[in-house]
Amino acid sequence: MPNELTPERLNGLELREPQRKAAGLPALRYSLLHVNEYMHAGEGLKTLAKLNQKSGFDCPGCAWPDPDGSRTPMAEYCENGVKAIAEEATKFKASPEFFAKHSIDELGEWTDFELGKSGRIVQPMYLAPGSKHYRPIGWDAAFNMIGEQLNALESPNEAIFYTSGRTSNEAAFLYQLFVRQFGTNNMPDCSNMCHESTGSALSEVIGLGKGSVTLEDIHEADLIISMGQNPGTNHPRMLTALEKCKENGGRMISVNPLPETGLMSFVNPQRPLKILGRGTELTDLFLQIKINEDQSLLRMIAKILLEEEKKYPGTVFDHEFIKRHTSGYSEWVDMLEASSFEECLKGCGLAESEVYEAAGLIMGSERIVICYAMGLTQHENSTDTIKELVNLLLVKGSIGKPGAGICPVRGHSNVQGDRTVGVWEKMKPELAENMRNYFNFEPPTEEGYNVINACKAMHEGKAKVFFGMGGNFISAVPDTVYSAKGLRQCELTVHVSTKLNRSHLVHGKQALILPCLGRTETDLQAEGEQFVSCENSMGVVQMSKGVLEPCSPDLKSECAIVAGVATATLKSKTTVRWDRMIAHYDHIRDAIAACVSGFERYNERVREPAGFYLPNGPRNRRFNTSDGKAHFSVSDLSCHQLEEDEFLMMTVRSHDQYNTTIYGMDDRYRGIHNERRIIMMNPDDMKEQGLETGYKVNLTSEYDGEIREARLFQVVPYSIPRGNVATYFPEANTLVPITRQNRSSGIPISKSVRVKVNSQRKQALS
Ligand code: SF4
Repeated sequence: MPNELTPERLNGLELREPQRKAAGLPALRYSLLHVNEYMHAGEGLKTLAKLNQKSGFDCPGCAWPDPDGSRTPMAEYCENGVKAIAEEATKFKASPEFFAKHSIDELGEWTDFELGKSGRIVQPMYLAPGSKHYRPIGWDAAFNMIGEQLNALESPNEAIFYTSGRTSNEAAFLYQLFVRQFGTNNMPDCSNMCHESTGSALSEVIGLGKGSVTLEDIHEADLIISMGQNPGTNHPRMLTALEKCKENGGRMISVNPLPETGLMSFVNPQRPLKILGRGTELTDLFLQIKINEDQSLLRMIAKILLEEEKKYPGTVFDHEFIKRHTSGYSEWVDMLEASSFEECLKGCGLAESEVYEAAGLIMGSERIVICYAMGLTQHENSTDTIKELVNLLLVKGSIGKPGAGICPVRGHSNVQGDRTVGVWEKMKPELAENMRNYFNFEPPTEEGYNVINACKAMHEGKAKVFFGMGGNFISAVPDTVYSAKGLRQCELTVHVSTKLNRSHLVHGKQALILPCLGRTETDLQAEGEQFVSCENSMGVVQMSKGVLEPCSPDLKSECAIVAGVATATLKSKTTVRWDRMIAHYDHIRDAIAACVSGFERYNERVREPAGFYLPNGPRNRRFNTSDGKAHFSVSDLSCHQLEEDEFLMMTVRSHDQYNTTIYGMDDRYRGIHNERRIIMMNPDDMKEQGLETGYKVNLTSEYDGEIREARLFQVVPYSIPRGNVATYFPEANTLVPITRQNRSSGIPISKSVRVKVNSQRKQALS
């Protein structure tokens, strides 16, 4: 099928030794190369001088926080932040001439990397029914077309409004306001695919679906436990915080199926005296666990702690905390007593001594921070695993005090903020009531579609208009072929974007691309230059103000695009003064302050140099649960029943990538160069399968009698537990079944897919 997937084309795999240290001089070198290659001379330095600074703009990369106190004026960013900037502020443009020259069929044959490098889209573009070329269209015509299509639907629930995590608080709030005035809660977002399990599990057990720690807590921890994450690539400035923790005497346990470079050793490029040295060893104990065995590991550790506590009462558990602040302790103890250590150990890929060593480190620590990312969240049992993390923290009293707590490390820069200000397929009663009072309308209450249900609704013909606020939906979602079929059946697909991506090529009968300002660019509205704001992984809201001239006079801000669509769609039915909201974003922030708790005096506090912290009960041992206490939880252990020739596959990101944006073709830290269609396999598994380095294979996954296939991958021997394999996202997304998800959060199982590896041609890499 054309255009659904990145083309089945190999680029020329090169393998080198994985790197031993993250960052350092190579990171500086690659950062400069990107700026030099993609940005205008002079703009690079001007932009980077303001990146993550107090008066500057928020990095459009990940959601890692900036220091509250002083920030280094030289470089308060990482290699991947620079790549994100070079990508957004690129000097290249995908002009109307570009679209006239290249048909959508031709562009469908380009890789995601090639599409991204075509440059910024500078005018609204329209793909007419049956046409093979996008052509320019005026803003008003585009808005009217969207309004007509939406109003022609039989029900507002036939439209889907997706949000990516780049969208600012201001744009996200306006967007959800428009969607709710239109009459639906169909607001899937990228959280549905990354940390929905966090929101679901943590809301239940600690009363807040977010982490409890600050950056200071990481610096002050006795022990950091990092699980299922690759900070060197996905949130690189976390390494600076880990370095501080180590310098303060902290220890670190890393639990991951791959020995990621960024977990092991870090050379801080911001410290000239360190840059030529050996770097900081980060991990004291590395546990190379099998995919999705984290719950078993946590259960074994808890059993060891319980045994020690029984032997030496009061020396391991924090009974005062347990008594005052928790419920469910005795049921948890009963669960541990009934669990078998041997059963847990059997399939997890670790030695008993390693588990005891981890337990020993935990026993000797008073202040523990557990950090985790998608290695934990994207499984059928991920909410149970996250609750086991909380059990461990609760029994140690390691939450709500300095140097302790839970730290889900979020992905895209404002993914947390978008949810905070109302983007969700569920309508929070408090937000509904506040919006009802402030805007005088009745918001819908029926639950809308999350990402998986949105894909199903389009596939089944129940949804007919797709609107994407940022992102690259088709590359992000599971089961690519299935999901693409749904998008192609839509009457209209609309994407608010800065650059070309695959979602523009997997389109409905008609399609629009609405080009928006980037974070790096100034935003001039009727009452002057505007700023927006974002919430980072630790609940700090800060302003973001771009510095560059917009790359085209025909761009609009995301807020202005929402207002344009809302005005054309809702017409006289709306109760919102959209023009006033856009004239000065203070009006939007006033509305947020009135409708979303925690944003009181928003306009005043967001102008503080380092922004402000949103309320966080668990940080102060206040748990907004049914009984006001944190909950120990009890769960069944899950296990994967693999057939003899099956492997458990996780999708991972390369170092030259951020989510669906492909900055380059190398995965430098892992030593995999110039190719993305690869599968990392344990050398012993390769031998058993008769595979050699570079062999070409097809991958299949079979669920509920349906076989999915991803063709033409090359085998790479790698340090990964036996029975496990790793492939890149999004190339292998087509194998992730739409039918399997976490039971409570609905998150797809992108990190535990059963696959078979079928040798295509026995042709080794020359
Ligand atoms: S750590 Fe994340 S937010 Fe910070 S500069 Fe790097 S990509 Fe940007």
